[in-house]
Amino acid sequence: MEKSVTYFRVSSTEQKQKGYSPDAQKRLLWSFAQTNRFDVDMDFEDTETAGRAGRTNFMRMLEYVRENKIKHILVEKTDRLLRNFKDYTLIEDLMKECDVTIHLVKEGVSMSKDSTSNQKFMFGIKTLMAKNFLDNLSEETKKGQIEKIECGEYPSKALLGYLNVVDPLTKKNVIVVDEKNKPLVQALFKLYVTGNHSLLSLITTVEGMGLTSNIPNGRKLNKTSTAKLLQNPFYIGYFRWNKETHKGEHERLIDPDLWQKVQDVLSGKRLNNDKKHNLIPFAFKGILTCGECQRGITAELKKGRYAYYRCTKYQTNCSQPAVKEETLMERVGVLLDWQMSDDGLAYVVAGLKQSLQEKRQWHDTAYEGMVEEKLRLKKRLDRMYEDHLDEKVSESLYLSKSKEYETRIEKLETDIAKHDRADINYYDFGHKILELAKNAKKLFEMGTSSEKQEFLRYLLSNSTLRDGIPNFTLKQPFLQIAKRSPLRERSAWGG
Ligand SMILES: [Zn+2]
Repeated sequence: MEKSVTYFRVSSTEQKQKGYSPDAQKRLLWSFAQTNRFDVDMDFEDTETAGRAGRTNFMRMLEYVRENKIKHILVEKTDRLLRNFKDYTLIEDLMKECDVTIHLVKEGVSMSKDSTSNQKFMFGIKTLMAKNFLDNLSEETKKGQIEKIECGEYPSKALLGYLNVVDPLTKKNVIVVDEKNKPLVQALFKLYVTGNHSLLSLITTVEGMGLTSNIPNGRKLNKTSTAKLLQNPFYIGYFRWNKETHKGEHERLIDPDLWQKVQDVLSGKRLNNDKKHNLIPFAFKGILTCGECQRGITAELKKGRYAYYRCTKYQTNCSQPAVKEETLMERVGVLLDWQMSDDGLAYVVAGLKQSLQEKRQWHDTAYEGMVEEKLRLKKRLDRMYEDHLDEKVSESLYLSKSKEYETRIEKLETDIAKHDRADINYYDFGHKILELAKNAKKLFEMGTSSEKQEFLRYLLSNSTLRDGIPNFTLKQPFLQIAKRSPLRERSAWGG
């Protein structure tokens, strides 16, 4: 019997709905193993909260598979396994280097290095869609946070000088003053406002006063964190979230007059003059690594207008020269100059349809569960009302119970609406993939520098630059689309 591992993942929202327990996934995988005569060596499980990929055991699983020469990974379906392209490349490497086969049990597909390009292509599309679904969820979580913000509740980790605690009465997360660090924060502001300090001397001064040893988690104040701290309106009772300032519910540590004066001192010292550097979006920034020394490739402007890319050469004796942006642009032009053949188009459409069908299945189950629950609660509420009219239920019990049901119904209604919106985004996303695949070159050329940058991040993975020549690698499913292009002989990347 060949050795295998199982991997299953559930999100915390799914867990509350029927049919999505980790046990159900596990049973499915184990029975598959039995039928196919695999020996299950180890089970790996991750739980995920909306938008936050709990992937610790995913990484452990990859390691385990390598170390123990496991040849088979059993998962329920693609979106249980992969959350993004990084995962995808990790899995692809594993298939290539260790000859591992991935069994997508519910999809009835096994992926290995010998899979057909068609199968790899479908796999790629499903990865894209899986990722998108996660993005939607995290979008929804943000919306939940916005509701909190509007009530003055800071949705994130407390700053230095404050603590996150749970109010024992209301069970709400609240932010309270951290008495231990309060003097430190106040000293920073009081000293800095004198104008006699640089950030560095400010830090040494408070350290000299024995104040910084209080900082939690062994973090140390440095120039950047201190500058950020001094500019944060949190200390005067506000907080910033998504570029907007909101009035908070927390107590202020600094007098608003003092805070404003500190801002004046800071701006007098022009701490922000490195900002203009970030205003120029370089299309290839963060996309390439050096083909000689594997360091990052950074961008700079020469003579105020020519964009150049060069290896950071961090702690190496790399010999690579800087490269003009135009050179890279030409290469991308060639790369994206594919034509969607009818065949290619049919594949994309089929891939999208299939992924939609699979999504529908689990989505519908979740959706129906919520609608049923809502109906059930409404019936109970009605019955409760009747009982109350018949004086079987006391006024106070009726009021408290009906309130409880109403809150639960409201919550379900928002969840149902969320699913509806996620659906629309999902279709929209599929449409975008298709448009992008059809018009890649045109879309790229039309885009602004920052759009180009985003576009390239979306299309490319693991691309390198050496001797002035970029070696671009397309992500799936675009790699397959390009390969199916009748123009592919002309492209520079072989494939
Ligand atoms: Zn280099």
